Amino acid sequence: MSETIYDVLVVGGGPGGYVAAIRAAQLGLKTAVVEREHLGGVCLNWGCIPSKALLRNAEIAELLQRGKDFGFSFDNLKLDYEVAYKRSRQVSDRLVKGVQFLMKKNKIDVFQGTAKLRSATQVDVSAAPDAPAVNGQKFDGTLNAKNIIIATGARARSIPGVEIDGEKVITYRKALELRQAPQSIAIIGAGPIGMELGYVFRAYGGEVTVIEMLPRVVPLEDEEVSAEVAKAYTKLGFKLLTDARVESLTKTAHGVEVKAGGQTVKADMALVATGFAPNSENLGLETVGVKIERGAIVIDEHMRTNIPNIYAIGDVTAKLMLAHVGSAQGIVAAETVAGVETVELEYIYMPRCTYSHPQVASMGLTETQAREQGNEIKIGRFPFQANGKALGLGDYGGFVKVVADAKYGEVLGVHMVGPEVTELLPEWVLARNQELTPHEIARSVHAHPTLTEAMMEAAHAATGQAIHI
Ligand code: NAD
Repeated sequence: MSETIYDVLVVGGGPGGYVAAIRAAQLGLKTAVVEREHLGGVCLNWGCIPSKALLRNAEIAELLQRGKDFGFSFDNLKLDYEVAYKRSRQVSDRLVKGVQFLMKKNKIDVFQGTAKLRSATQVDVSAAPDAPAVNGQKFDGTLNAKNIIIATGARARSIPGVEIDGEKVITYRKALELRQAPQSIAIIGAGPIGMELGYVFRAYGGEVTVIEMLPRVVPLEDEEVSAEVAKAYTKLGFKLLTDARVESLTKTAHGVEVKAGGQTVKADMALVATGFAPNSENLGLETVGVKIERGAIVIDEHMRTNIPNIYAIGDVTAKLMLAHVGSAQGIVAAETVAGVETVELEYIYMPRCTYSHPQVASMGLTETQAREQGNEIKIGRFPFQANGKALGLGDYGGFVKVVADAKYGEVLGVHMVGPEVTELLPEWVLARNQELTPHEIARSVHAHPTLTEAMMEAAHAATGQAIHI
């Protein structure tokens, strides 16, 4: 038993948990984090960050392959995937070390081990025998805390009848550990994992088939965005099967055979990218009486569970399984514990990015959702092919689309697909937070020539007329 009584004990050191811990420490609370694997969680170690390094490699690989558009030619171009893999690990390690440093800097105690609630104020920690000590602490015993923040994340879930064997049938994690790009792969699910990793493997020459049970790829996005991504991926040589629910997946001597949508796909391996399930089991939550619905911890707008001093944030709450949302929830939770002013998150207006190529970035309602909710709307659109910077880049597929309330101009949704649109999204999020209208965005001067002008033009289009189309 540790003598210390922590003000805040965070279970899980991912982007939700470690950010919550830092904010709590900044507010003068004695804080600890229990992490069973690596600080930084899936995001830094096996998700957002290493995949972005691989995607950068993939973009360069694709660019080299269409080098003739720029007047470059190569004899015998070789792409070494192992170098891409190693670079992705280096990028990941560097950021994880950064988080370790931040824990020290903020005087947060880090315990390496698996946590289980014994009561609403006591947490048992069992260190794995081979667990490395993080920031000095390897601990087996019970920690005391006045408040607990659960930030245990989520894990890939499979589909009925499909067993993940880690060799021929894998999930994102194994996919990020591959030292060689597969020569052929069947990807089940056309969400962000399927579309991002599919792009990586395709750029390195793999035959990629994406199988999606819904009628379109990136199915949660605006319909026009899905159509644009499908067009671009088809041009890149992807095989896209939509409206295709997996009927069976069989392992064969050479790989896998997937039956879906009346077709049979043969490939070296299958990547199951059909969504995540919250990690709410084996935490002792039932013992303490924390309310769980469909696997997710139920929270209020301050991240409070039904037990007064227990909070939950991030993927385990299944509000919106995105790292930045977990971090934002973490800040709200820490501020609520400290009793200081905080904010209320509007999940529908959180930024959503898919690092496919073309990239997808959106927030708010799609056009269909806005209409279904009875809004009278106006739409502003601007294509990147009328944007000078995009043409110069040689990357001009896609568009910016704004959905605004017809009468008052409230921005209800923004849907972008095209070059670096993930970097453009914050302007809309800020505009929404500050209740700016398309008129005000259009009248804010955007530098020329930049990709950002496409947003200004789409805003002009929503208020009346775009200048450049
Ligand atoms: P997802 O839920 O976003 O997409 C899964 C897709 O699989 C859906 O389109 C679904 O219709 C399809 N699907 C489900 N069952 C199927 C079946 N039997 N046959 C065919 N298709 C099927 O999940 P994901 O892409 O696995 O990502 C997991 C989580 O990680 C998500 O919460 C996602 O938001 C997050 N993530 C985010 C990013 C990003 O923000 N860039 C990147 C990667 C992952």
